[in-house]
Amino acid sequence: MHSNPFTFCPHCSGETISEVSEGKLLCSQCEFILYFNPSPCIALVTFSPEDKLLLTRRAKNPGQGKLGLPGGFCEHNETFEQTLKREVREELSVSLSDIHYLTSKFDTYEYKGITYSTLCVIFTAKLATYELDSISDELDDILYYNLRDVPLEELAFASQIELIKELQNK
Ligand SMILES: [Zn+2]
Repeated sequence: MHSNPFTFCPHCSGETISEVSEGKLLCSQCEFILYFNPSPCIALVTFSPEDKLLLTRRAKNPGQGKLGLPGGFCEHNETFEQTLKREVREELSVSLSDIHYLTSKFDTYEYKGITYSTLCVIFTAKLATYELDSISDELDDILYYNLRDVPLEELAFASQIELIKELQNK
C-alpha cells in the first residue's frame, strides 16, 4: 500500500482520514470516501526513418536530466488520443499520424512529496518530421537511439525500462 498523502478529511476537515484499502481513503468521522485512483497518462514510441527511437531528456523533476518517451497526463474531458496529440504538440511542436495502441504500463510518479500511481497507455505513431528544432522548456534535448543501444540506466521511469526491454527482445 502506498502512503496516504492526506492529513485532513477534505469533507469534514477532521484528522480522521486513513487508507482502508489500496487507493481508498475513508474518514472515520463523516464516512467520506476518497478514491485516490491511478492517474491516466500516455507515452509515445516512435522511430525515425533511420529506425531510431526518439527519446527526450527531461529538464524538470521527476527525473530531471534523465531520459523518457514523449508523453504526459490526461486532462479532464480528454481522451488518450487527444492527450497524445496535445503532449506531442506541446513538447515537440509536431503533428502525428498512424496512431496505434501498443500496450499499457503502471508506475508511480513522485511530485512535490506525493507518490501518485499512474496508468500509462503507450501508443506508436509517426511524426510529420523527425528534424525537430522547437522543443518545450520541459525538455533539454531530443535524442535518437538504435533500440539495442538505449541506455536503460538513464531512463527516468521503471515502466519505460520494462517497455524498452520488451521491444528489444521482440
Ligand atoms: Zn470527514
